[in-house]
Amino acid sequence: MILTQCAACAAPLGLSLGKKCGRCSTRYCGPECQVQHWKEGGHDQLCKKIKKAGGAEQYNANQRYAEAVTVAAEACTDDTNGQTCYICTQALHRKTKEGLVRMCACRGTAGLAHVSCLAEQAKILVAEAEENHLGSKAFNSRFQRWHHCSLCEQEYHGAVLCALGWACWKTYLGRPEADELRGLAMTNLGNGLSAADHDEEALMVREAEFSMLRRVGGSEISMLGSQSNLANSYHNIGRDDEALRLRRDNYSRWLKLCGEEHEHTLLAANNYVLSLVTLQLTQEVKSVLRKTMPVARRVLGESHDSTLRMRVMYAAALCNDTDATLDDLREAVTTFEETARIARRVLGSAHPIAVDIEGKVRRSREALRAREASESRVVDVTSIREALEAMPPGDAN
Ligand SMILES: [Zn+2]
Ligand SMILES: [Zn+2]
Ligand SMILES: [Zn+2]
Ligand SMILES: [Zn+2]
Repeated sequence: MILTQCAACAAPLGLSLGKKCGRCSTRYCGPECQVQHWKEGGHDQLCKKIKKAGGAEQYNANQRYAEAVTVAAEACTDDTNGQTCYICTQALHRKTKEGLVRMCACRGTAGLAHVSCLAEQAKILVAEAEENHLGSKAFNSRFQRWHHCSLCEQEYHGAVLCALGWACWKTYLGRPEADELRGLAMTNLGNGLSAADHDEEALMVREAEFSMLRRVGGSEISMLGSQSNLANSYHNIGRDDEALRLRRDNYSRWLKLCGEEHEHTLLAANNYVLSLVTLQLTQEVKSVLRKTMPVARRVLGESHDSTLRMRVMYAAALCNDTDATLDDLREAVTTFEETARIARRVLGSAHPIAVDIEGKVRRSREALRAREASESRVVDVTSIREALEAMPPGDAN
């Protein structure tokens, strides 16, 4: 379940606390909230309707889906005005009257569709794969239709990914808890909510997913994937201590499972360091990166996104250390200059990452110059004193 709050007062109930409406399974913290919700919250009017829809979880998903489709279609109006759906060929959906969407890499008149039509296609393709036992490769590529455009093969973003997330969840939520598709739908919904910046809600879904996997005994790989998503959600809402705790654990578990050279381990290391940087734990940033950065350079190569990020974070940590030596600053400047060159070549000079590193090159050069100037003043004073002391007394006259 993803509904983990009292329907009347929104108190957190976790997965088992509180009381359920006997008819429709709407959850409350206790009998008082339940009575109040019935008398004043309109539940007397809605209870039958919710039960008919399949219970509180299904009713909520249906409602949220309809809202998310409206939001997505509105967000796309400039792009879709006067166009038709490539699946059903209509402008307005015949049954739902929803508008068109498009949030992928398709251009021109390509890729315009109704969320309902995209969802229907995905549902049919996945059902076929299941019925015909098509094996995991075919199954995965079909499930991808819940989040990737079949025409340009790019992932949908923003409001469209969110609407498809609700579509997917409402399709599979009625299955048993350990069902693979139900788990995938939960991940998909979390991704969609996160893409649409509904971070608090994404966190609730991630938490529900993580504890579901623990309950049903999910594989270590799916646990680690879920833990990483959960950490990202904590980070997005500014709960960085919790993000750090999860990311540190995530990194050491990947390390144990796949070794230091595996891409997942390096990605987990990157996220772990990102949390350390956010919390300004400079010494730990340096010590983790001294271990992981050389591996990333060797295994992933100098142009890889993770390698670049690691090197930039390392150089920034060198600069930010209050005990930085002149050599540290020189190493930081050289690293920023090298990574700036790589970023310009790989990403283009207008890319935000390239622009960001360019700024760091400038600032670190200034810091180095200032430091060199101040050190040379120190040297000057010393050498003057030494010169004075070396002068034999009496010579001054
Ligand atoms: Zn309550
Ligand atoms: Zn009820
Ligand atoms: Zn359509
Ligand atoms: Zn597309």
